[in-house]
Amino acid sequence: MPETERYRKVDLHSHSVCSDGRLTPTELVDLAVEQQVSLFSLTDHDSIAGLEEARQRAQQKGLVFINGVELSTQWKGIPLHMVALDFDLDNHILQQLVANNQQVRMGRARSIADLLIKKGLPDLFDEAVERAGKSQIGRPHFASLLVEKGFVKDANKAFDRYLGNKHLGKLRDVWPELETVLSALADQNMALVLAHPKRYPLTVTKLKRLLADFKQWGGNGMEVASGNERPDHVRLLERLSVEFGLKASVGSDYHGPFGPWMQVGKYTQIHETSVQLVWQNWH
Ligand code: AMP
Ligand code: MN
Ligand code: MN
Ligand code: MN
Repeated sequence: MPETERYRKVDLHSHSVCSDGRLTPTELVDLAVEQQVSLFSLTDHDSIAGLEEARQRAQQKGLVFINGVELSTQWKGIPLHMVALDFDLDNHILQQLVANNQQVRMGRARSIADLLIKKGLPDLFDEAVERAGKSQIGRPHFASLLVEKGFVKDANKAFDRYLGNKHLGKLRDVWPELETVLSALADQNMALVLAHPKRYPLTVTKLKRLLADFKQWGGNGMEVASGNERPDHVRLLERLSVEFGLKASVGSDYHGPFGPWMQVGKYTQIHETSVQLVWQNWH
């Protein structure tokens, strides 16, 4: 890692109203500028709808903007997120993967509503769809309804009691296989980054198996710092990034001024000087 990069404020993971974030792409870019970010990407869940707006605003504000998306996938039955960065908006293969995941999201929302009905709750499907509006529907939309209707006291409790992976059963397996997604994108000239590797229920041994698969199937990067991760976890991820030849990415995973989310541009700092940075050869 060149010394000049060490102090540069880079944020390659964030969300807008196009998925489950609170700010519009324009507001998000303005916030990034205010926070003195110099290289920024919007990475909504299964949506590229906000990228044009974000790019336009970034151009007005003199912020270097990178196209991004956080794709939902699965590996050995575990839901897993990967971030694709620095692609062309008209990439048809990526567009198709995104469109497919959007269909999966709608079907899954119906199934989540059914799951909640089985637990004695009313049918929340229509309200969740209405709440999501143009944004990609996900569990956070159900969570906020559960809070508003007084079934739980906050979103965290909603996940704890109703929506967390442990409650989802078969609904964990709706996403396309990681191998399928990576193989489709491997030769498409973009960064393919495993998102927040320490947020999955994996031992270090199993995580290493995942990283080996990720690399073998065409992945080329991994996040080493994402939000307010424990510093010792970041140190481990830095080492793994070097060991597996996966370039390091960083981001806040900002969703808005609520919940556990970090401010735009903020995450546990990386230290290891031998890591290759995913953005090193971009601009
Ligand atoms: P989905 O994309 O439908 O699988 O929903 C996952 C999203 O829910 C994540 O991207 C987070 O933004 C949010 N989320 C996950 N766990 C929690 C939690 N415990 N409390 C609040 N939000 C959460
Ligand atoms: Mn989210
Ligand atoms: Mn994620
Ligand atoms: Mn995210």
